[in-house]
Amino acid sequence: MNIYVPYVTNNGGPHSETAAFLKDKATFVNLTGDDGNYFRLVKMLWKKQEDFTIVEQDILPAQKDLDDFDSCPEVWCCNPYDYEGKNGKSIAIACLGCTRFRKGIIEQVPNLFEIIASYDSGTMSWNQFHWVHLDGLIWRTLFYKFGLRAHIHDKVIHFHKYLGRSIYV
Ligand SMILES: [Zn+2]
Repeated sequence: MNIYVPYVTNNGGPHSETAAFLKDKATFVNLTGDDGNYFRLVKMLWKKQEDFTIVEQDILPAQKDLDDFDSCPEVWCCNPYDYEGKNGKSIAIACLGCTRFRKGIIEQVPNLFEIIASYDSGTMSWNQFHWVHLDGLIWRTLFYKFGLRAHIHDKVIHFHKYLGRSIYV
């Protein structure tokens, strides 16, 4: 399994427990410096047409979670995690935090990132290449345009508390 841990150094980099657990298992990718780097990374991984797993820098899966990704035949699998939302504690389901895509879903939607890039944000202040929108745009595109849903696995540990992030279910 190809596991990637995207991180930025301006908020401390990978959590020490995430780094320790994955140091021999994953490729750590420094995305510091440009809010579009996360989009470019996942687009590049998608283009490789190989199974891959994303574990974000503040997420800690258990070995069992990684084993479950390896053994599960579904093409898109995800571990939800707790986060601190506007109204207190919530659970993030539509996320990239701990997600495994198989070649099978990439083959179904090979142009996923071209579709996302084509969205017109009009006069809105957001843009579709910013990391904060990446998880939601992937989920929304795969679900609303292609009827695909992630297979939800066990909850994993989330160290960081996000404020005001939206969730998509
Ligand atoms: Zn699964």
